[in-house]
Amino acid sequence: MTRHIEMLDALFKYATEGIVVVNKEGVIVKLNPKAMQLFGYTEAELTGKKIEVLIPHRHAHRHQHHRDTYFEAPRARGMGGMLDLFARRKDNSEFPVEVSLSPFKTSEGEFVVSFVIDITDRKNQELLIAEANREITKLNAELEERVEQRTQQLARAIRKVEQSQEEVMRALKKERELNNMKSQFVTIASHEFRTPLATILSSASLIGRYQTSEEEEKRQKHVLRIKSAVTNLTEILNDFLSLGKLEEGQVKVASVETNLSEFCGGLIEEIRGLCKEKQNLNFLHSGINLVWLDKQLLRNILFNLLSNSIKYSEPYRTINLMVQGTADQVRITIQDEGIGIPEGDKDHIFDRFYRAKNAGTAQGTGLGLNIVQHYVELMGGSIDFQSEVGVGTTFEVVLPNHHHFDE
Ligand code: ADP
Repeated sequence: MTRHIEMLDALFKYATEGIVVVNKEGVIVKLNPKAMQLFGYTEAELTGKKIEVLIPHRHAHRHQHHRDTYFEAPRARGMGGMLDLFARRKDNSEFPVEVSLSPFKTSEGEFVVSFVIDITDRKNQELLIAEANREITKLNAELEERVEQRTQQLARAIRKVEQSQEEVMRALKKERELNNMKSQFVTIASHEFRTPLATILSSASLIGRYQTSEEEEKRQKHVLRIKSAVTNLTEILNDFLSLGKLEEGQVKVASVETNLSEFCGGLIEEIRGLCKEKQNLNFLHSGINLVWLDKQLLRNILFNLLSNSIKYSEPYRTINLMVQGTADQVRITIQDEGIGIPEGDKDHIFDRFYRAKNAGTAQGTGLGLNIVQHYVELMGGSIDFQSEVGVGTTFEVVLPNHHHFDE
């Protein structure tokens, strides 16, 4: 052997790739030690066998076809293209391979030499990388979710801070309003208390002077004046007390079964005492009589509205209270022929301390209607009015009859 052939032989023997030579018919004619090691055969076992013994059964028949077309136009190339290739050992186990094919011709005919590399390690590596990639993707998703969660927590925390800020603002506003109310109370009390107190003082001193029995009539007149002045003061104080309770949220609605005609009839008789000379106070009830209402609140509403009608009407005028009960609601109408409410004041009539410009010297605090409106709202009802200066005023209150809720 020349040195040249010795070298080629060594190359063949010690190559780290498996080398398998087949003839045109696909019969193995030569293989190197690495190929024997890869496939687990001895040289004698493989020589003369079809190359398909080295290919998994499921691919073997197709391989035969590929081999035929390859020999029509043989050229050096990798095998399988993008496909994953597998080889079969003697014990039928499989392993992933990379194969390249090179055709050559000798005087004995055409051959193909295949170089086979076992890529098990590389494949395992690829699997590990794919697994690691999957892990990274998962971690990323988890991280994103955590970020999302934290963002939401943060948003919630911000909302809470904003809410408490709003609460503080509200509390501050309320405190300011309360302060205003206090100073307004001092103003109104000093103003409104002066007249009745002066009346009481002068009437009391006059009574002291009327000593004879002929003066009994005058005495009685002054006793009445004192009574009415005291009523007036009590009313003002009651308004302030009611407002305080409303402000503190202490007023609760407690509906009880109420006999409308009895309840309103009694109240009318009580209020009749407040009427001016020859004022005519009528009460008319229609519809059902037994309803469910908060008596205390209803009493306050009626008292306020009726005493306004009396206060803002001249003597000899008529005041009507109409109460209509149905299964769902109670409709209350209070109608007077009084001084009426000027157009420009109508929008503010329910405002706290507001008094219309024609209220004149009539005693009042401007709190009554504000309180009435609060009570009506608490009871889930509504209040409205129509008024014309010099003609009269009609207030209408609609309250739900809580019958079905409380049963
Ligand atoms: P006041 O203590 O002044 O009566 P209210 O809150 O009860 O306070 O009423 C507010 C204002 O509405 C009154 O000052 C008055 O100008 C006007 N008003 C209320 N009821 C009537 C009415 N029946 N007729 C004319 N004006 C009224």
